[in-house]
Amino acid sequence: MTYRKSWAEPWKIKMVEHLTMTSREDRVKAIEDAGYNTFLLRSEDVYIDLLTDSGTNAMSDRQWAGMMLGDESYAGSRNFYNLEKTIQDFYSYKYIIPTHQGRAAEHMMSQILIKDGDYIPGNMYFTTTRLHQELAGGTFVDVIIDEAHDTESEHPFKGNVDLKKLDDLVKKVGADKIPYICIATAVNMAGGQPISLQNIKELREYTTKHGIDIVHDMTRVAENAWFIKEREAGYAEKTVQEIVFEICSLTDHATMSAKKDPLVNIGGFMATNNEDVYRQAQNMVVVYEGLHTYGGMAGRDMEALSIGIKESVQDDHMRARVGQTEYLGDKLIGYGIPIVRPVGSHGVFLDAKKFLPHLSQDVFPAQTLAAEIYVESGVRSMERGIISGGRNKDTGDHNRPKLELVRLTIPRRVYTQAHMDVVAESIADVYERRAKITGLQFTYEPEYLRFFQARFEPLS
Ligand SMILES: *Cc1c(COP(=O)(O)O)cnc(C)c1O
Repeated sequence: MTYRKSWAEPWKIKMVEHLTMTSREDRVKAIEDAGYNTFLLRSEDVYIDLLTDSGTNAMSDRQWAGMMLGDESYAGSRNFYNLEKTIQDFYSYKYIIPTHQGRAAEHMMSQILIKDGDYIPGNMYFTTTRLHQELAGGTFVDVIIDEAHDTESEHPFKGNVDLKKLDDLVKKVGADKIPYICIATAVNMAGGQPISLQNIKELREYTTKHGIDIVHDMTRVAENAWFIKEREAGYAEKTVQEIVFEICSLTDHATMSAKKDPLVNIGGFMATNNEDVYRQAQNMVVVYEGLHTYGGMAGRDMEALSIGIKESVQDDHMRARVGQTEYLGDKLIGYGIPIVRPVGSHGVFLDAKKFLPHLSQDVFPAQTLAAEIYVESGVRSMERGIISGGRNKDTGDHNRPKLELVRLTIPRRVYTQAHMDVVAESIADVYERRAKITGLQFTYEPEYLRFFQARFEPLS
């Protein structure tokens, strides 16, 4: 499990981007102006930006060259056909509809497949995914294995579906109320934890028997494939590319946020093997995104995406990608800092409940910790706890997820090992003064996806 072979990056740096260095005084002012929400900081005030791995990727020289090959015709751009073929070849899906990013694909998928009163099981929720399911009249049901909610469990596949939980739901509401199960690969909200191929195969068998489809939230499928290669019996000799293809081919439909795995800054798509679903999506995309041969993307962006997909499934790329995340995780463990184990694919998740045990969840420990880390060193992270969890749509109370985490998310091909050292050292500094940290309270709470725009003030 602890991977100690060299993972040096299979690339070198051709161009650099300067970072701003700030003083503690600057940062105290900046976080106050941002209402103690790291989403509201200006990026110029940030030194090392680990807010998200979404759209923050560094593109390769080949991808930039691809940008120059953009065919910006309104209809039938050649870049669309390149992208379509790449998705068919690498991800197995027959039909694709480009979108501006993942949530647009989720919107269409939810509106097409969900009827009012339906239930949508999933291996943990994702913020935008669940919201679109709810807006379509569905209710999300978490069917991930219990180990996923335990930050200390070393289970190698914490993204697995608990088939017993799924079967209980089917028995309770009936399979006809469950249009599909949504499975995420490298489950974001669980800390980037993988689902095994064995679990997907069992799920395929079960869902086929009950007439339930599988929607694949495939935003980090290649990262998931790397863990399968490392941990699942029988896959060590397979390539990431082969494993990615096998995962996809066991599912019926997919939504992709291309801002993650596929190494671009914007883009996404919906994919399906069902011609009828495809026709309906083609109808919707012209209303909400654009013509079906560009969706929400420029031709050049589709070209960069198609090249990025090919680069994302290279074993050497994945070894360095996940290796860097594990490097940061191991450093933090070395300082005795509580993190989600095993370290996931795209980031290291601090366990804010254990980091700040004197704070109750009602004073938002993870939100507080993210603000403190920023003040300490200019490192930007984000909350993944009670604020991200939102409120129950019926009772109005906080959803109170078991996990109260701060996510240090690593952009692909952007930072060096020395940056990771600085991050680990500054979190260790916050850890030393943790007993003095107090919580936060809302000064403004938006109705939807509140974590993006909420504002807070410190409790005295
Ligand atoms: C980012 C993400 C999405 C949404 O995609 P956007 O491109 O941000 O709209 C959906 N699911 C998962 C697991 C994600 O990480």
